[in-house]
Amino acid sequence: MTTPSAPGTPSQPNAQERPLDLAGIGIGPSNLSLAALAQPLDELHTAFYDENHTFHWHPGILIEGSAIQVPFLADLVTLADPASPWTFLNYLKSRERLYPFYFAERFHIQRAEYDAYCRWVSQHLPALHFGHHIDAIRWNPERVLFEIDYTQLDPDGEAEALGRAYARNIVLGVGTTPHIPEPLRPLAEAHGVPVIHSADYLRHRDRLLAAEHITVVGSGQSGAEIFLDLLRHRPAGRERLHWVARTPAFAPMERSRLGLEHFTPDYTHYFHALPEGVRDQLLPRQWQLHKGMDPATITAIHDELYRRSLHGDWPDTTLIPGVFVRTAGRVGTTRVELHLEHAEQGTRSRLTTDAVILATGYRERRVDTLLAALDPYIRRDSAGRPRVDAQQRLILDPLVKGAIHVQNAQTHTHGVGSTDLGLTAWRSATILNSITGTEHYRLPQRTAFTTFGLEPRPTPRPHASTAAGSEQRHTIPRQLPVH
Ligand SMILES: Cc1cc2nc3c(=O)[nH]c(=O)nc-3n(C[C@H](O)[C@H](O)[C@H](O)COP(=O)(O)OP(=O)(O)OC[C@H]3O[C@@H](n4cnc5c(N)ncnc54)[C@H](O)[C@@H]3O)c2cc1C
Repeated sequence: MTTPSAPGTPSQPNAQERPLDLAGIGIGPSNLSLAALAQPLDELHTAFYDENHTFHWHPGILIEGSAIQVPFLADLVTLADPASPWTFLNYLKSRERLYPFYFAERFHIQRAEYDAYCRWVSQHLPALHFGHHIDAIRWNPERVLFEIDYTQLDPDGEAEALGRAYARNIVLGVGTTPHIPEPLRPLAEAHGVPVIHSADYLRHRDRLLAAEHITVVGSGQSGAEIFLDLLRHRPAGRERLHWVARTPAFAPMERSRLGLEHFTPDYTHYFHALPEGVRDQLLPRQWQLHKGMDPATITAIHDELYRRSLHGDWPDTTLIPGVFVRTAGRVGTTRVELHLEHAEQGTRSRLTTDAVILATGYRERRVDTLLAALDPYIRRDSAGRPRVDAQQRLILDPLVKGAIHVQNAQTHTHGVGSTDLGLTAWRSATILNSITGTEHYRLPQRTAFTTFGLEPRPTPRPHASTAAGSEQRHTIPRQLPVH
């Protein structure tokens, strides 16, 4: 890495300086997992960058008591290396909280605890550089390296200095951004009425709770957690809450044991090998694997509604599935009118409300600007999306000798598990094995009882049956099928 210079001119590299073997862009759970698993690989010179000043995991939705949707074993490292110092259990040990956790018998930890655990890991890994926004990545054919231009930010987010780093390999872990449907965008940008995305919920919670009538739009996990939180904090009989959802029902997320096998490396391999057209047809049909609500949250909502009806009156709440918001407008300066349509009935109605929370999901962060200079080298599928191989690597023109791996941006090639924390450690291990050309992390040959597809499983590698642990290394082929 180079020393930053004043804003205006990226610093020039020192000829003696050793380029990075791996530069990670973004430090969310994906690249934090990669950094944690890369740490023991002494030969690997790495640096990871994030524009934020410290690690935070979706801070706007860390509602007190809410739990993550995967067991704690889906921490940053365990499913690739349970002996790593960066496991959740080791975090608890460092906090002297192992015994309370043991007696709590909780497989699904609270979101706030997962956030604190990740921050603890981030505070111990020297290769992490917070307060660095990555502006552009280019391929330098003379040096056979990627150039990474960054802006160093002060604690207020103002540019402090510009810098440039050089790396043989890049791993993009830039995550997602909140999504607001087109008809609602002008509303969200207007002042006066609180209309906010669920990603900002906690920042506006007091103002929202003070509103006369509140509407939550969207029935994913965020919508459910916010509806429950509002319900619990409104006076009984005067809840004045609407919850509208486009889905035909307030539907649970898949939680059955065999259903969860869609979040295994086995299913990921199967999905990746399918033709592009089949993958594209499959994804919308699989929405309930990842877009519904946790059954425990649905139970908590029903419990709370039931408790409020014990004395005979119904709570002042309206829960309507199968409805979409066609458009919306302001009424005076302080109210909003939502124009609703029921898909099955074909009926329309208007709802006037004082506050709106748009739990309308997230989309992969666009990287057009960041990768603009690399655009001619990126191979795309028929829909213009980057092609990603089995090693989680963008398919590039052979002129580019370095590799760009991606995390959490390959649902179109790797399926619904791409965004699931349960596959994070496995994906990081896959990337590290690929970059080093050595099987530092032995990956399992079989991960599901279900057999996905009629073709036989790949035969186990030589040594797969030996008792050697993750320290036994095998050289692996660098070329795997691409899609
Ligand atoms: C609200 C919410 C709750 C979720 N809950 C669960 C759950 O319970 N279980 C589960 O399995 N999955 C869950 N997910 C899905 C997923 O696992 C998480 O979104 C996870 O945070 C993804 O990690 P990431 O590192 O890929 O991205 P992110 O966590 O989004 O991190 C990306 C980072 O990159 C930084 N960045 C972006 N661009 C740049 C740039 N140019 N320069 C520098 N830094 C940059 C961002 O600031 C950010 O810090 C949830 C997702 C959301 C949105």
